Amino acid sequence: MFKGTNASAGIGIGKAAIIKENELVIRPEKVIDGAAEVERFKGALAETIAQTETLAADLATRVGEKEAEIMQGHLMLLNDPMLTNEIESAITGDNVCSEFAIETVCTMYADMFASMDDELMQQRATDMRDIKVRLQQVLQGVKPVDIAALPEGSVIVAKDLTPSMTAGINPANVAGIVTEMGGRTSHSAILARALEIPAVVAVPGILGQVEDGAEMIVDGSEGVVLSAPSEEEKAEYTAKRDQFLKEKKELEQYIGKPTVTRDGVEIELVANIGNPDDVEKVLQYDGEGVGLFRTEFLFMDRTAMPTEEEQFEAYKKVAIALNGRPVIIRTLDIGGDKEIPYMGLQKDENPFLGYRAIRFCLDRKDDVYRPQLRALLRASAFGQIKIMIPMVTCIEEIREAKALIEEIKKELDEKGIAYNKEIKVGIMVETAAASLMADVFAKEVDFFSIGTNDLTQYTMSVDRGNEKVSYLYSTFNPAVLRSIRNIIKCGREAGIMVGMCGEAASDPMMIPLLLAFGLNEFSMSSSAILKARKMITGYSEAELQAVADKAMSFVSAKEIENFMRDFINQ
Ligand code: PEP
Ligand code: MG
Repeated sequence: MFKGTNASAGIGIGKAAIIKENELVIRPEKVIDGAAEVERFKGALAETIAQTETLAADLATRVGEKEAEIMQGHLMLLNDPMLTNEIESAITGDNVCSEFAIETVCTMYADMFASMDDELMQQRATDMRDIKVRLQQVLQGVKPVDIAALPEGSVIVAKDLTPSMTAGINPANVAGIVTEMGGRTSHSAILARALEIPAVVAVPGILGQVEDGAEMIVDGSEGVVLSAPSEEEKAEYTAKRDQFLKEKKELEQYIGKPTVTRDGVEIELVANIGNPDDVEKVLQYDGEGVGLFRTEFLFMDRTAMPTEEEQFEAYKKVAIALNGRPVIIRTLDIGGDKEIPYMGLQKDENPFLGYRAIRFCLDRKDDVYRPQLRALLRASAFGQIKIMIPMVTCIEEIREAKALIEEIKKELDEKGIAYNKEIKVGIMVETAAASLMADVFAKEVDFFSIGTNDLTQYTMSVDRGNEKVSYLYSTFNPAVLRSIRNIIKCGREAGIMVGMCGEAASDPMMIPLLLAFGLNEFSMSSSAILKARKMITGYSEAELQAVADKAMSFVSAKEIENFMRDFINQ
């Protein structure tokens, strides 16, 4: 049995198809006519670009726009004059053949990217090696491995699956993928998930230990790979696979169904997203809107702040894609565990208690908050955008943010720029202070969304990322549950919508309690939506009251967890 990283859920059973790239022999052959050799390189470059464009178009239609972007990344590298000029200079400067010049230059860049301690850079290294080999294959007339031609029931075993190889996969024939390299967020893992092929990555040394054609089992949910399994193992995993597929299929029947409890209580079941591309999954899993757009992701992985215009385009894209369904966009929540180097934030002694979220934004109105709020207001003309303020602790923060929004509305009016004049403004309730003041705050805002990830941390005084004290970090602690119940009650009494966008909203043991407390909206990762809909539609809110009363009579997290576990399993 081999252990690796679970990269794409499901169980794949089939025969190993060992993928080894044809060995290319690259030698520093001398050339006499450097100019002619540069022309030879240019010809190969043009052909590789054309192949990549075909792959990108094929991916876009077969899999999705987002996945096609991976090939767009290759095109960017191939069209980068810095890279190609450097290769041409190597050819003419050293009088060497194109293959060797490519080898030297691309390997230098790939090694440089690989040495950086950053997953994105690791991926760029893979991309660089991928285009290097493809250019050399074109030059030498070597056909790339034809993954598209693999027979049905193949389990691909490879060192690293390059994006261009993954792009050629026919999911009907590929039962699973195992690679020695890669991580959960590597491009091949992303593609495997998009194609819904079970995959385990980062399995060291598997190539040397598996024969081509050997029977294989890939458990992409647990990150386990078996080669030449016993009869019992085969029976066990076949049952596991059937169960996985059955559950997945069963959940599909909840697509297009309303989220209503048995006693007729309508619930909004919406998604958490981090960037506009995530909308694809929201629609795939039939999310009824977006309950939390964490905008800080737009600010990450870059060297400067996104402009108002860039933000406007991103918010507008989501609003349009959701086509009138609610889209709650949270204003920038950085600081704490989320750092953005170019923002010039100093390291706080206590980051989670420090200069974070709304505190930071109100201090940086001109360069940070105004542009974001303007972008949000302008985008509100294109859909049902709502603005949400994170980490509120006192009434002044709400009033100051709302005053700023009013000020920007006036500016837009003066300039005749369209926006939704009735735009709703709500807050995340995720601090102990906001929970205790929920009755007052409810009169000042249009909605609440409970952020249990932070609410648990601030209620229990326990750092959400500290392993040593994680035993205290439970949303089932009665202190946290009382807080949640109070927030919902205050919101409901004031007649505003109360949602939840922390992880607890999709916890099967928590859902019955939240329904009983009267939560209106549940926001979670898209892939959790159908399971939550199945649960919610199976309960009667009225009948859950007794369950919640009983749960709330216990005095420890453990007791409540045990009680709820028994309840949902009965
Ligand atoms: C939360 O705190 O529950 C929440 C949803 O926000 P984040 O995890 O981004 O802090
Ligand atoms: Mg939070």
